[in-house]
This record gives sequence, structure tokens and C-alpha cells, in this order.
Amino acid sequence: MPSSETPSADISAGSDIPPERSGRRLTVLSGPSGVGKSTVVAELRRAHPQVWLSVSVTTRRPRPGETHGVEYFFADDAEFDRLIAAGELLEWAEFAGNRYGTPRGPVVERLAAGVPTLLEIDLQGARQVRETMPDALLVFLAPPTWEELESRLRGRGTEPEDVIARRLEAGLVEMAAEKEFDLTLVNTSVQEVCRRLIALLSA
Ligand code: ADP
Ligand code: 5GP
Repeated sequence: MPSSETPSADISAGSDIPPERSGRRLTVLSGPSGVGKSTVVAELRRAHPQVWLSVSVTTRRPRPGETHGVEYFFADDAEFDRLIAAGELLEWAEFAGNRYGTPRGPVVERLAAGVPTLLEIDLQGARQVRETMPDALLVFLAPPTWEELESRLRGRGTEPEDVIARRLEAGLVEMAAEKEFDLTLVNTSVQEVCRRLIALLSA
């Protein structure tokens, strides 16, 4: 999910441009943990560098190989509280025991500049974006089957079983909310999902 071009300092960047005056429609990608959102987004970033992917702030600890400012800005609770209090998050949510949020300033600036902009966030965040930016396009990434979702989440090997269980529980809630989204893409083929997403982002 990732943007190496956004320096850490940007997590505090505010902006005077209200989202509703921005020049381009925001696209949001959501779906249950393990469906393949990060994989799709990494491929999109590789093949279509003109798309800007927001880098979220999170209180979760980095996974091996994750770099501050690339996959996430890793923050402690006090810093996250400060960002909320200062109104610097476009949306934020608690997910499976950690908090995640989208820095507002960089998103608003990219949209105003007409850059195709993508957020990869959870259901609660997608609902907040729906409220604050009604023009946003909400895309749901679905697994081919529930069994495949479980197998991908376990196969990733990044969480212990209790965390996997929490994520699957949240996944049931996310799956039940699919109809709230503007459209669904089934992640059978990463390449095909990327092809569809880039068409939506370029529209
Ligand atoms: P998310 O970001 O939605 O939590 P990830 O991108 O981490 O999910 O993907 C979870 C696991 O599923 C990873 O091991 C990834 O390699 C695998 N994966 C992603 N997309 C596919 C796909 N289309 N087919 C098979 N495996 C996939
Ligand atoms: P992970 O810990 O697997 O990277 O992410 C867990 C969940 O948090 C995923 O559903 C992901 O989409 C979501 N997420 C990541 N960044 C944000 C964010 O900025 N806001 C919200 N609401 N969810 C996020």
C-alpha cells in the first residue's frame, strides 16, 4: 500500500482545500483481511505508478519487511490520539485490536491536483468516507470463496491463530456489508482485478 514518495512529515500535513471541492473522485478499496488487498495494491503501484496510494497511520507493529512511510506510518497511541484531536485524519477505525487512519492532507492535495487516488481501508473507514465524500467510489474486494479467504489469511503466516480468528470474525461482518459498496471485484486473478481497478481509477 505504499508510497515511498510521502515523507513521514506528511502525516501531520493539513490542507485548506475541503474534500468536496476537490478535482477528482476518490476510490476506496475494502474487503476482508486476507482477501488480497495489499497484493492488488502492490501490483497496481508497480504497473501503474501514476496512481497515488494513500499511506495510512497505524498503531499495529510492523510485519517483517514493512518500512515506516512505505506500507504504513507506524505510530504509538499518543501520536494517534494527537492526530485525531488535531483533525488530521480523514477517517480512522479500530480493527482487530489496532487503530488505523488516513492522513487527510495528502489525500485532499492529490485529489485537488487531479491525481488518481486510492485508499485501502476497512469497512468502518469506507462508511466514514461515504458520509464525508459522497462522490467517492467504493469498491469491495471479495474472495472467490470463504474457504479460500481462510486459506489465504493462514497461508500469509503473519499472524498468530488468535489474531487470525479476530480477523475472520471481522471478515464475516465485512462480507455481510458488500451491498453497501458501489461494486464488487472478486479476487481470483490479481492481474484481472488490477485491470478493472485501473479502468475505474482512470475514468
Ligand atoms: P489483505 O491485504 O487483503 O489482508 P494480502 O494481500 O496480504 O491480503 O493477501 C493475503 C494472502 O493471499 C497473501 O499470502 C497473498 O499472496 C495471497 N493472495 C492475494 N491475492 C491472491 C490471489 N488472487 N490468488 C491467490 N493468492 C492470493
Ligand atoms: P493490516 O493490519 O492487515 O495491514 O490491515 C488491517 C485492516 O485495516 C485492513 O482491512 C485494512 O484495509 C485496514 N486499514 C488499513 N489502513 C486503514 C486506514 O487508514 N483506515 C481504516 N479505516 N482501515 C485501514
